[in-house]
Amino acid sequence: LFDSLADQAALAIERIELVADVDRARLAAEADRLRSALLTSISHDLRTPLAAIMGAAEALRDYPDAIAAGDRIELLSTVIDESERLHRFIANLLDMTRIESGAMQPNASLHYVGDVVGTALRRAAKILAEHRVEVGIPPELPMIRLDPVLFEQVLFNLLDNAAKYAPQGTAIRIEGWADGGSVVLQVMDEGPGIPPADLERVFDSFYRVRKADHVRAGTGLGLSICRGFVEAMGGTIRAGNRTDRSGAVFTIKMPASADVAMLEDLP
Ligand code: ADP
Repeated sequence: LFDSLADQAALAIERIELVADVDRARLAAEADRLRSALLTSISHDLRTPLAAIMGAAEALRDYPDAIAAGDRIELLSTVIDESERLHRFIANLLDMTRIESGAMQPNASLHYVGDVVGTALRRAAKILAEHRVEVGIPPELPMIRLDPVLFEQVLFNLLDNAAKYAPQGTAIRIEGWADGGSVVLQVMDEGPGIPPADLERVFDSFYRVRKADHVRAGTGLGLSICRGFVEAMGGTIRAGNRTDRSGAVFTIKMPASADVAMLEDLP
C-alpha cells in the first residue's frame, strides 16, 4: 500500500511539475511576445521621424537650386519638428524607465492647483490654438502638495491628447473642486471618447485604442507617464467618458494638504 501511495504521490508531483512547466513556458512566451511588440513599437516610433528627417535633409542636399525658398523653409521645419518629436520620445522613454525603476523622486511643495493649471495652459497654448479652452477652478480650493514640473507635464500630456483626439473648434474643459480631503481635477474633451474595455489599458505603455492613433505625433507613453507621475505624488488618475455627450474625461485626485488647513486656521 505504502509503495502504491508513494507511486501515486510521485505521479501527482510529476503532473504538477508538468503543468507548472507548461505555465512557465506560456508565461515566457507571453513575455517574449510583449518584449518583441514593445521593440516593434519603439522601432516604428523612432523610424518614422528619422525617415522624415532623412528625406528632407537629402532633398536639401541633392537639389539645392531646384527648391524654392518657401519649400526650403518647409523642409527645414520638418527636420526641426521631427527632431523635436524624437527628443520628446527619448525624454518619455527615460521618464518611463525612472518610474519603473522606482527612481522617480518628486520634489514636492505646496501649490494652488489653479496656478499650476495656468502654467500648463500657457505652455500648451500652441497646441490648443484650434480648440476652445474653458477653465472652472474656484480660487478657494485648498493647496496641494505636488511637484510643479511633474504636475505640469501630466496636465500638458492630457491637454495634448484632448487637442489631438477631439475635433478642431470643440471645447476642452478643465474643472477642479474639493472632495472631502482631496482636490479633484478633470480634463474633458468633445472627441470620440475611449471604448469602455480600453479605459484601463490606455495607461499601459505603447497602448493605443485605434490603429490610426499610431500615425499621430504621439509616443504612446503620455498616459503611462501621467499615471506614474501622479502616483509618485500620492494621487490617482483614471480615464472615463462623458455622460452628457461624446468625449473623454480624465480625473486626477490629489490629497489636499492638511498642513495648509492648519496654517489657515491660525488667527
Ligand atoms: P499617444 O501618444 O498615442 O497619445 P497616450 O499614452 O497619451 O499615447 O494615449 C494612449 C491612447 O489612449 C491613445 O493612443 C488614444 O488611443 C487614447 N486616448 C488618449 N487620450 C484620449 C482622448 N482624449 N480621447 C480619445 N482617446 C484618447
